[in-house]
Amino acid sequence: MKTIGILGGGQLARMIALAGAPLGARFLVVDNVADACASQVAPQITADWRDFAALEDFAKRIDVATFDFENVPADTAHWLAERVAVFPNPRALATTQDRLVEKTLFRELGLDTPAFVAVDSRADLDHALVEIGYPAVLKTRRLGYDGKGQFRIKSPADIDVAWAALGGAALILEAWVAFECEVSLVAVRGRDGAFSTYPLVQNWHEEGVLSATLAPAPNSEGLIEAATRHARAIAEHLDYVGTFALELFVKDGQLLGNEMAPRVHNSGHWTIEGAPCSQFENHVRAVLGLPLGDTSVLGTAVMLNFIGELPDATSVLAEPRAHWHDYGKSPRAGRKVGHATLCAATVAEMRERLVHVARALGREAQAAPVLAAL
Ligand code: AMP
Repeated sequence: MKTIGILGGGQLARMIALAGAPLGARFLVVDNVADACASQVAPQITADWRDFAALEDFAKRIDVATFDFENVPADTAHWLAERVAVFPNPRALATTQDRLVEKTLFRELGLDTPAFVAVDSRADLDHALVEIGYPAVLKTRRLGYDGKGQFRIKSPADIDVAWAALGGAALILEAWVAFECEVSLVAVRGRDGAFSTYPLVQNWHEEGVLSATLAPAPNSEGLIEAATRHARAIAEHLDYVGTFALELFVKDGQLLGNEMAPRVHNSGHWTIEGAPCSQFENHVRAVLGLPLGDTSVLGTAVMLNFIGELPDATSVLAEPRAHWHDYGKSPRAGRKVGHATLCAATVAEMRERLVHVARALGREAQAAPVLAAL
């Protein structure tokens, strides 16, 4: 029996541990918050990711290490890799931690991105805005996720406010893309180089945070081949092992790379009930060097995220093929506290049932764009 160590003890670690248990895997998480979400299902070491004495103990107790969060310090990942196998490897993690390095790599490997320029000073920002134009979005290069560390610049009047909010950190200015839709591709690569992708899914965000996912993305046949090719090229370049997500914009029918999440991803939560082998089980299989599982979609699936607080579960539990996930976290504005997944055999059935489920949850507005896309 192998023990997988996870840096980060959030809901992603919890879902990895739940998926790995039937395979005989054991887990140990490290998080600096006592009683982290994953500690409900796996033992936890409560320590900072820079507490090397605690990490020494962690490394001794595990066979392989992985992450549930991309912003684990790269130094920690390197230090750990000298003691135990770490997947994905620290180089892959470091590449995805810096938006400038990541987008530069996308372009080198043939994946277009929104226009971008590095910004390190106020003068750089003025020059970058001349090059990129309006609207644009100023982002921190590092430590940003879920729309954090971002500021939209719609006109010159926003420049001072944007600089006051983010100036001082290493930044990137990107063109704001009026995209047709957002899609993502969750993929997995094994230790032997085996590669597999889930279907392309469509995503909707609210204030930069994922709100809903529809699998498979409607009318995506023409994009799958290119998305898969890009994901594979990136994974092979980084010698990536494990599950990851490539987040993409669709603009004029073409794909633009937004970012890569070097971990299991919120837009893949539907795979727990909607695919033969979930993104979480496949991550466990990959890091343990086991054969990868089937990544097809069984019919269609919709995932609704719950941010801040959970709706009442009782009514939705009575709905056939509706699944409930309560992360056991206390409510807090902006915090991901749970999700629901609805599966259906056909799009027609999904359309009908999603109306019921959204009403039962009091989430009609959240489901509305998904219904419009179905
Ligand atoms: P990120 O943290 O970069 O993934 O951004 C979070 C969300 O903000 C994305 O999923 C988009 O909805 C939106 N967003 C970020 N960058 C851009 C951009 N350059 N153009 C349009 N929308 C963007």
